[in-house]
Amino acid sequence: MKKLLPTSTAGSLPKPSWLAQPEKLWSPWKLEGDQLVEGKQDALRVSLQEQAVAGIDIVSDGEQSRQHFVTTFIEHLEGVDFEKRETVKIRDRYDASVPTVVGPVSRKKPVFVEDAKFLRQQTDQPIKWALPGPMTMIDTLYDSHYKSREKLAWEFAKILNQEALELEAAGVDIIQFDEPAFNVFFDEVNEWGIATLERAIEGLKCETAVHICYGYGIQANTDWKKTLGSEWRQYEEAFPKLQKSNIDIISLECHNSHVPMDLLELIRGKKVMVGAIDVANHQIETPEEVADTLRKALQFVDADKLYPCTNCGMAPLPRAVARGKLNALAAGAAIVRNELLK
Ligand SMILES: [Zn+2]
Repeated sequence: MKKLLPTSTAGSLPKPSWLAQPEKLWSPWKLEGDQLVEGKQDALRVSLQEQAVAGIDIVSDGEQSRQHFVTTFIEHLEGVDFEKRETVKIRDRYDASVPTVVGPVSRKKPVFVEDAKFLRQQTDQPIKWALPGPMTMIDTLYDSHYKSREKLAWEFAKILNQEALELEAAGVDIIQFDEPAFNVFFDEVNEWGIATLERAIEGLKCETAVHICYGYGIQANTDWKKTLGSEWRQYEEAFPKLQKSNIDIISLECHNSHVPMDLLELIRGKKVMVGAIDVANHQIETPEEVADTLRKALQFVDADKLYPCTNCGMAPLPRAVARGKLNALAAGAAIVRNELLK
């Protein structure tokens, strides 16, 4: 990006109420068959238009064609039985009924490549595409086949790499891997989490990002955050190794979180997507609040490497709130951009 402080979102944006029930994760589709295909494309167009009107520089599909950022990808793979469900604790935090890995996992056909081509046709702006990271994928499944988190993660990394190479060929500029699990399983992150992520980006020439956050603004995450104390130092665990990794961009939660900004010093040299928009409340930030977060981050991130962003996805928010937050993000980034260019 040549533009200073290019804005983007972490990924998901609210869906229109005619496509799926708003303000809900895993919300069932309201359409079926060809109508659903068309409805998802229409929603993508609307989401893209809302980002463009707000002045977002790096745009996305708003994840309009997926029910959930992890589950939808896994649904397209062989080896996972969605009928056979077990209850597991996701990210050591909340119980969820999840599908079971029953055999070798593989990707028989592309998952999001057609959607990415469609997005590419609709805009000349840089586009970012999100995929789940290997560690977060395994954390959302019950494994009765490999019986090893690490082994399954390596298998998923290979599959993600196939998908990522095709997304790159479809014209995606930045491929992002969502790894909220990096804030929870510190030993595994350093033992094989970052290594499997690097396997997923092998051979890519486009930019790559990893999004590490404290989760969507759902109750289980909000309750967990209350237990973390006044300083959230989780990022400290993975940063040194990430700094040395081949990942280009690190996407983080910053605004309203208790992450000490100086932790960013540990990833000096990387591009950083700085979360300046809280996704866990309905209060719309003022441009000045956004600018304030960005100025704090500028103490530890070089200006040409700072990408203003949202803390996480905004799928569970009301549409008007999400739109307001997008506007605030763009306006806040513009304030600091002007200060830097003075
Ligand atoms: Zn997130």
